[in-house]
Amino acid sequence: MSETDALRALMEADRWIDRVGSQRNHLPEKTELTTLEGELRSLLKALQDAQGEIDPIQRAYEDAASESQRLKKREVDLATTLATSTGNARELGAIHTELDHVRELLGACEDRELELLLGLEPLEEVVVALRAKAQPELVRRTELQSQIVALEGSLNEELVSLREAREQRASALSPELLARYDSAFVRVGTSGAAQVDAGRCDGCRIALSPLDFDRWKAQPSGSFLSCPECGRLLLP
Ligand SMILES: [Zn+2]
Repeated sequence: MSETDALRALMEADRWIDRVGSQRNHLPEKTELTTLEGELRSLLKALQDAQGEIDPIQRAYEDAASESQRLKKREVDLATTLATSTGNARELGAIHTELDHVRELLGACEDRELELLLGLEPLEEVVVALRAKAQPELVRRTELQSQIVALEGSLNEELVSLREAREQRASALSPELLARYDSAFVRVGTSGAAQVDAGRCDGCRIALSPLDFDRWKAQPSGSFLSCPECGRLLLP
């Protein structure tokens, strides 16, 4: 294998590794997961806000409900006392007055209970709607997470075997040429060599000057001009 072919093989191996690496780093599933997690965070915030409004109303409702119960019991007690009383008119009058008062308080308390309950309803509907919206998103998140693990795993395995093949190709180059290749590779990434395509380096896409283009065409076999822009070895 000529040095040019060996260099081209190494360049292609590195470009392939770069594509697979980029595929692994830009999985559409990851983009979707990021968007989904953003939505889930907003839903959680909205749920917390709704719950924050519900809690004090819920407590007030429970207080009103227990007060109603207390008043109902007092009403029954007073009504029983009245029915069985043998007391005089003044005592009966006093019980009557208290019973009227208790009934009035009970009425007000039940109105309050109803009012609080009606206030809770729309907030609870909001919570139900938010939960319903979050449910399929949580399912999708789990799906995406396992898809990403599987995809990354198989791409990582592919990268390991591609890198092994790459090392074999690199060992076919002379140490001097490999050193030049590696130095360009470390500096600019993707690959340490490039091809000239329509007068441009296909590594950095910059057109060679007419002078450099002539020099590149005239380079003797086995010598490789570096791209003046990116430094990649330019293949004939
Ligand atoms: Zn270049």
